[in-house]
Amino acid sequence: MNTPELDLLDDADRRARQYLETVRDRRVFPDTRAVDALSAFDEPFPATPGDGTATLALLDDVGSPATVVSNGPHYYGFVIGANLPVSAAADRLAQSWDQCASSHINSPAAAAIEKAATRFVLEALDLPRQSAIGFGTSATACGLSSIAIARRTLLARLGWDFDKDGLIGAPVIKAVVSAAAHVTVIKALRILGFGTRNIITAPVDQHGRIDPAQLPDLDDRTILCLQAGEVNTGEFDPFVPLIAAARKAGAWVHVDGAFGLWARASTELRHLTTGIEDADSWTTDGHKWLNTPYDSAMSICRDAEAMAASLNADAVYAKGEPDAQKSLTLEFSRKPRGIAIWAVLRTLGKTGLDEMITRHHHQAKCLADGLRADGIEILNRVVLNQVLGRLDTDERTQALLENVQDNGRIWFGGTRWDSRAAFRLSVSSWRTTDADIETAIDEVSQQLSAL
Ligand SMILES: *Cc1c(COP(=O)(O)O)cnc(C)c1O
Repeated sequence: MNTPELDLLDDADRRARQYLETVRDRRVFPDTRAVDALSAFDEPFPATPGDGTATLALLDDVGSPATVVSNGPHYYGFVIGANLPVSAAADRLAQSWDQCASSHINSPAAAAIEKAATRFVLEALDLPRQSAIGFGTSATACGLSSIAIARRTLLARLGWDFDKDGLIGAPVIKAVVSAAAHVTVIKALRILGFGTRNIITAPVDQHGRIDPAQLPDLDDRTILCLQAGEVNTGEFDPFVPLIAAARKAGAWVHVDGAFGLWARASTELRHLTTGIEDADSWTTDGHKWLNTPYDSAMSICRDAEAMAASLNADAVYAKGEPDAQKSLTLEFSRKPRGIAIWAVLRTLGKTGLDEMITRHHHQAKCLADGLRADGIEILNRVVLNQVLGRLDTDERTQALLENVQDNGRIWFGGTRWDSRAAFRLSVSSWRTTDADIETAIDEVSQQLSAL
């Protein structure tokens, strides 16, 4: 029997289906007309109840045409994966459960599945199996909580009770980060009160990797933030010498591997991450290269107890197990976002994951070769899934980028490299086929000859 609720959900499913049926052929970035039509949302807050069907119709009729089709095969912007069928489906089912996944008492199902997800992630990434994982909203939030755990733990080793005494009068904990660190690592440090002026920068080589010979001094009051996957070049810091130096000094090592950590799941690319398993904490996203839906990220900490103590959220009315997600993430009430991650890993398995990551690497190399053949200068070594390119002048680079974006067949974004305009393409969608790569090369080639 259909109820209004089920009718509305059927309507949503029908509309979602229509959207996905056209995801290959849609303009990748909406045209001006579709964007202008968004003014339909500038309506006043309704004084009285309305019809859910009409709300959904407005959402689809005006919202859908103005979406960026990053869930399609032709999107190469930033590092934005699509949504694999099984994670989209699992997410859809879990939405009807609407669980508050704080701890076992709130949802035995969510707690058990996120535990399974933890095991799968540690195995897929081959990280220390005793580690705890908090499934958070983003690599930004997970990075922030990791750095907070790091600081609290270093202070505890020095005999300082951060929880009770805070930072006033505390030993100074410093942060050493790569000159090519992601802006969100700096943001996390800034929010946590490190002060951007006090952040110590580790110089990088021409690939964007920290140069071990120029590593600033480390001690037992230092958090060293390393990177797996630089956003422009896709390169990795040399973990073996850097982590060895940190160990010797008693520093904490945190690795931002928002997308790059997944290289570890590829037999062919795994060597890029050698030594990474010796760090203390790692962050990564599901919503980038793993192709799970937003928001989906992981904060992984070798010392499960330190993590649970730092982020503990037990209340008199709500005691949780030590590995309750509310004590491993910043959230108290939260969606069980580990479910989509579990669904993808369970369905792809070890070899399926290896295949997807490795395929994107090969496709990126193929893309780079095609662009190079057209006279585009490729600036990186394409060790991963990122392709960085430019033309002979900044004006021409910019013009090519704008023309490709305006045409709507594919999309990628601009960046700066070596103080010059450049553009970068990231191959990270499960939908992108080898034929789609040819389409991308063809599109750039056509726009280039029209310049
Ligand atoms: C995207 C990205 C982040 C931030 O991740 P969010 O999930 O968007 O917060 C951090 N570091 C790197 C290297 C990234 O690519």
